[in-house]
Amino acid sequence: MDLRKLIRDIPDYPKEGILFFDITPLLGDAEGFRKAIDLLAERFAEAKATKIVAAEARGFIFGAALAYKMGLGFVPVRKPGKLPYKTKSVSYDLEYGSDTLCMHEDALLRGEKVLVIDDLLATGGTLSGVIDLVEAFGAEIAGIGVVIELSFLNGKEQLHSYGCESILQIA
Ligand code: IMP
Repeated sequence: MDLRKLIRDIPDYPKEGILFFDITPLLGDAEGFRKAIDLLAERFAEAKATKIVAAEARGFIFGAALAYKMGLGFVPVRKPGKLPYKTKSVSYDLEYGSDTLCMHEDALLRGEKVLVIDDLLATGGTLSGVIDLVEAFGAEIAGIGVVIELSFLNGKEQLHSYGCESILQIA
């Protein structure tokens, strides 16, 4: 099964000049969605992680399914004001301005091994922010994985030399 055929290319979204890769056809295809999760699970079979950390919103979809498949806990990373308990946060730079990511302050233990999962790696800004947040807990990154890597953007360079497993590479 060719998972690339389940990714829809949308020109000029969310603004002119941007080519957006829409994952909803893949999510809507039972076989395709399962295949993406199974392939990610294979990549991390030896990682010995205890939790998956993923950022809202699309990261939740793959992160939570993978946590279930691998028998791991799931930790949501959210924008400010969305988590009900005390939080730890990091701010990171975007092309225009900055953004903040939060996690509950008791979400990870020092030394705990985690997998960081997202739907797509573009510039690497989002995953780099999540890595900083995980490291602020003293937790260990056991692996980073995405379904789609936009390899022409060299986002891997932002990932603190952890590397990134991807199921589909778009050059
Ligand atoms: P980055 O921070 O530039 O690496 O962008 C990755 C983040 O933005 C991920 O959390 C994605 O959900 C989202 N994103 C950026 N571009 C796309 C796209 O073409 N399709 C789907 N999500 C995207």
